Amino acid sequence: MWALVLALVILCCGWCSGGLEVSPIGPQIVVISLDGFGQHYLASYPGHFLPTLYSRGAYPEKFSNQFTTKTFPNHFSVATGVYEDVHGVVGNTVYDAALNATLDIHNQSLFTQNPSLIPIWTLNELVGGHSGCIMWPGCGFPYRNKNVTFFEPFRHSADLRGEMYRVVEWLTNATTPANLVMVYHEQPDLIGHAYGPDSPQVLAELKKIDSALQYFFHELEIFGLRDIVDVIILSDHGMMSVKERDIVDLSALVDTSKFFFTGSSPLLNVWVKEGVNELDVYRPLEHQGVSNHYRILEAAESKAWHYENNPRISRITLLADDHYVFQDFYEFIDSFKEKKYKDLTDTHGEHGYPTTTTNMEPIFVAVGPSFHRGFKAPNFSNIDVYPLLCRMLSLPAGPHNGSFAAIAPVLAQPSTTRLLKPLIIALACMVLLVGVVGMVACALTRRSHKRTVSADSLINGYVYRKTMRKEKPLEDRSEEECLLEPEVEEV
Ligand code: AMP
Ligand code: ZN
Ligand code: ZN
Repeated sequence: MWALVLALVILCCGWCSGGLEVSPIGPQIVVISLDGFGQHYLASYPGHFLPTLYSRGAYPEKFSNQFTTKTFPNHFSVATGVYEDVHGVVGNTVYDAALNATLDIHNQSLFTQNPSLIPIWTLNELVGGHSGCIMWPGCGFPYRNKNVTFFEPFRHSADLRGEMYRVVEWLTNATTPANLVMVYHEQPDLIGHAYGPDSPQVLAELKKIDSALQYFFHELEIFGLRDIVDVIILSDHGMMSVKERDIVDLSALVDTSKFFFTGSSPLLNVWVKEGVNELDVYRPLEHQGVSNHYRILEAAESKAWHYENNPRISRITLLADDHYVFQDFYEFIDSFKEKKYKDLTDTHGEHGYPTTTTNMEPIFVAVGPSFHRGFKAPNFSNIDVYPLLCRMLSLPAGPHNGSFAAIAPVLAQPSTTRLLKPLIIALACMVLLVGVVGMVACALTRRSHKRTVSADSLINGYVYRKTMRKEKPLEDRSEEECLLEPEVEEV
């Protein structure tokens, strides 16, 4: 009997694990962010590999990002699923009055204004997963006192091919294989700033990226990960061309000693210095804006763009017109010259403009076993990526502004259906086991009854049998009577 039970349990477990069709550590997801890779680059894309990924993957009609369309704010929105004014990274640099400090990428406080948020990499670690980050903005700091399992800090001019190799190493780590890897690559953003989005230099960079992506998928194939690992390739924004003649120099227009600003072109947060009347700053800035290609952000715009409810957003915020920037851009140009960028012209690139502006749209394509192939989904946003990752990794999503329903169409099978099969199998196993255990328990009970039957009941049974046996049909006899039958015969 025990051998039969054991065989059934082994059979059941084997059946259950065989039916799941997932890697032994569950889903493995790689998110690759190509900084400044605008959707507009795809129209004249010089590579051949990324287009094949689109034909093999799922992508939205339109992928939207958050205002301001800058790097660190948007990367943190992807990681947390909330608007910029909810996570507080409202610019690449911010002024935090509560801390009385200007914060940049090197300050953890840039990312921790809202302590209720847990970035996706930490959430994954907290439930026992292993996250890896390659230069992803904000990932190098501990959240809830926890660091990611694998981390590579930012360094300029990192080679994407090398990073891709590192990702495969982490995915296949023998002791702590990563189930979530977030990769940040600073190109084609940097080259787009230096030479402008329509430059041959950008095309050359896109080719390099294309070949690195091809290499990555080749490695996945070699390591047998192609049908296991899900890959999401996205970006934070595109790039708009800017000419040097279109730099708005505020210092030539107003008294800049009355305020300081944080952020960078085309969006400046203006902070009025102590003792200065705010109107003395507001009026001249507003007046000059009329004829100098910038404006003060209106309340209705701030509200519509979820760029309002945060003390890190100044009451006076300046936004340059499309293709225009402020004087901070001079420093940018100088840095390219210092770094000896060759063949610079008077055309450069910038982003940070409203999400609906020309060239600000980022890219998104998802390829792997969980996603549809060659499928165009309705519009969704980069804050929807967080609930998608939570669902795919079975993480308990925190409060967020995204929508799983909006992004769910990219999934080949809704997660509920994918979970149904293992659930049904598990349920069937349990019913079977309960049945078998029940049978065994019943049999054991019968045997123990036999052994512990008392002298009294033997005598009673004997007397009873003697008197009733003949009158009572077999099927009407009690269990005790049946049990006693053979024993008494032997006595
Ligand atoms: P922006 O394009 O102005 O939004 O800023 C993004 C730029 O910041 C990229 O082109 C990178 O060169 C740079 N960057 C990205 N991550 C880091 C980091 N962790 N530390 C320093 N610089 C970074
Ligand atoms: Zn960026
Ligand atoms: Zn940039």
